[in-house]
Amino acid sequence: MLVKGVVFHLDSDLPSEARCLLEDFRLAVNNSIRVGLQARVTSRNALCKIAYKEFRQEHPRMYSQHLVSAFEVAGGVLKNHRRRFRKDVSCRTPFVKRLMMKAENQAYKLDRVSGVIDLPIRAGFHVELRLVVSEYHRKYLDDMSLSLGSLTVLPNRVIVAFRKDAPKPFVPESALSLDTNERSLDGVFVEGDVAKAIKADFHDIAIIQQLLHDRRRRLQKKKAHDRRTSRNLCRREGAREHHRIDYRLHQVANSVLKFAEERKSAIVLEDLKGVMPKRSRELNRRLNMWPRRKLHQIIEYKAQWKGIPVVKVDPRYSSRTCPICRRIQDSRMGAEFKCKCGWRLDRHINASINLLQTAISKGMAGGLWFNPGAFQHDVMMILYEPAMAARSEPNGTSGVVGVT
Ligand SMILES: [Zn+2]
Repeated sequence: MLVKGVVFHLDSDLPSEARCLLEDFRLAVNNSIRVGLQARVTSRNALCKIAYKEFRQEHPRMYSQHLVSAFEVAGGVLKNHRRRFRKDVSCRTPFVKRLMMKAENQAYKLDRVSGVIDLPIRAGFHVELRLVVSEYHRKYLDDMSLSLGSLTVLPNRVIVAFRKDAPKPFVPESALSLDTNERSLDGVFVEGDVAKAIKADFHDIAIIQQLLHDRRRRLQKKKAHDRRTSRNLCRREGAREHHRIDYRLHQVANSVLKFAEERKSAIVLEDLKGVMPKRSRELNRRLNMWPRRKLHQIIEYKAQWKGIPVVKVDPRYSSRTCPICRRIQDSRMGAEFKCKCGWRLDRHINASINLLQTAISKGMAGGLWFNPGAFQHDVMMILYEPAMAARSEPNGTSGVVGVT
């Protein structure tokens, strides 16, 4: 089962009764966290068994489904805490700070035509939440193959989970093989006996990251005497940059998926598990790897949602192998891969050809084949470039709604 959370803004302010419910819900979650820590349990059922009666008395008017859902949220927090605690015993006791509530799909009604949510507060008392529905939201509301999952209510917006069974991936008619680099996806697109170079350039992400990194350094130095302020400032800066990067990663993924969907392509990616650039320091390494991993996550998830096949292959030697004579070079070279047999090509594109050949040799569906000799050296298809993000980035005035 695949789940996608779609963010909706509210037409008006949250009704005061709903706000009270959010506060009650948070209280119930934090109480169940406390109970769970004492009793050393993390599952919703166990929490329910231990605490339901007492909670019923403390929150006599809360709709009982919401109470159970508070146990569920607390269970999630407790599981996270347990994982962290195993690594670091000194980590803090968890609590939910943000005002929020979650309702399971039986505990609310959404009219998919009018976009009005009916949310029970307590027995016999409901509130209506009117959603702002755009064309983007219509796609989900009108698609009856999607069922409704949980509803998360926040003070200024709600998140509706849409669910569907994973569609069966189509049989590919072409292939799009991508080598993932710090500043771009470089690859080869193969259809019939034609092969072309393809590129999605996102070097602006590296620039944003560098900016963030520098600013963080400066803040830490300037506020060295005040750790708390320094930490808060860094966190705020971080969240903003994170949004900008996330937005671009989604744009890049969308451009790749649109291309693959239109041409019925299988997508070949390197398996980034365990890939770590050598010689760089711990922090830099983490900083540099996460956008790539995140990009793969987004591509894989969205491809699953759309039924586009994705093949992941081991990238070992992919940047050092000659696709013609299979000779493995001793070390990495410059921007161009050159082989003794006369083959020469952009290093990244060459790597993507090797990834594709590995995928084909592993029996990629559809009987696709690839002849490196058919590669058209003079053609480069651009899937994405930074200017495309700059044109469409939500700036708070255009009314574009974020996607999770
Ligand atoms: Zn060669």
